[in-house]
Amino acid sequence: MNEWTSRFPDTIDSHVHMGDIEQEAELEQIRQAIGVDRIGLVAIQNPAAGSGLPQALYMKARQPRRYYVFAGLNHAAQLSAGQVQTAPLEQQVERFVDMGCDGIKMIEGKPTSRQRMDIPVDDPYFAAFWRTVEALDLPIVWHVNDPEEFWDPATTPVWALERNWGYGPEDVTKEQLYAEVDAVLQRHQDLRIVFAHFYFLSADLPRAQRFLDAHPRVAFDLTPGIEMLYNLSRDVEATRDFFLRYADRILFGTDIFSDLSVREGQYRAGIVYRWLESDDMFRVPAGADFLLGQPADGEIHGLALPDEVLTRIYRSNFTARAGDEPRPLNVDAAIEECRRLAEIAAGLSATPAGQTLAARVATSLAE
Ligand SMILES: [Zn+2]
Repeated sequence: MNEWTSRFPDTIDSHVHMGDIEQEAELEQIRQAIGVDRIGLVAIQNPAAGSGLPQALYMKARQPRRYYVFAGLNHAAQLSAGQVQTAPLEQQVERFVDMGCDGIKMIEGKPTSRQRMDIPVDDPYFAAFWRTVEALDLPIVWHVNDPEEFWDPATTPVWALERNWGYGPEDVTKEQLYAEVDAVLQRHQDLRIVFAHFYFLSADLPRAQRFLDAHPRVAFDLTPGIEMLYNLSRDVEATRDFFLRYADRILFGTDIFSDLSVREGQYRAGIVYRWLESDDMFRVPAGADFLLGQPADGEIHGLALPDEVLTRIYRSNFTARAGDEPRPLNVDAAIEECRRLAEIAAGLSATPAGQTLAARVATSLAE
């Protein structure tokens, strides 16, 4: 039962990470093993490595009908105090659209991201960016915050501590991060945002409900954070009512990385499938990937959602936001962007531009 499969053939996984392009075949193997039709790649940029966006564009080029790309911003100019130049954020967005990206990925609002760049999302630095995304009506997949346990060393899980995801008094607080998002949503009420990991409100369903009611155009994705499944298993009736009521506001996702083994990918997706489809009581299987913790950590109680709700969560809530088909890649614009990213990476590191992942992708796209 550990490799639980879904009976729905048209599922779109809205939240997947691609590593090096060498992992193309591996990611495709995982996709097939977990029975997913399409994938939304969330492409967080690593400016110094020239990676993040290029490999996602590469996957779109390789399989145009399967891969959506949500492009992350490049803050290299800000982070390097002007040592390298990057386009203003709003111009980056316009280029993403031009090259055929389907939306925006943000991680600004995760405390670790704030440690690297201490600029709140309601700062003037982001003002033109928000205006542009709102005007272009682009969907955003946004990781804001983290589970509240991460602010207390006594409750932070081992797997989180090992990633340096434990926070202290010197870090931004959970409430501060929510307040900054509220300020953005107040100013830009037409933004279409999918908050990743249930917006880390799974321990407080009434608050999640108030948030969705206050912001009709936002949604949540169901990517673990395994704590989400434990929290939402405590009162299955309340969770089920929530899912029925907000059936149009919830998206399936796994947070699978292309470097997982096929087995780990199956476990990760299987946990979410089984939670949504069955009424089983079960645990994370031994051998699941590190970030899911241990079987002993908790029990998950299946929601046995009706098919009519599952088909929305698995597919139509995604296509309603990101389009029925992935947008076509503009190969020339993608090559140009990859070359720019390679130059930025070379300016920030000892790696020659030509050896960056961005340059390798540019070469491959030009063939
Ligand atoms: Zn993710």
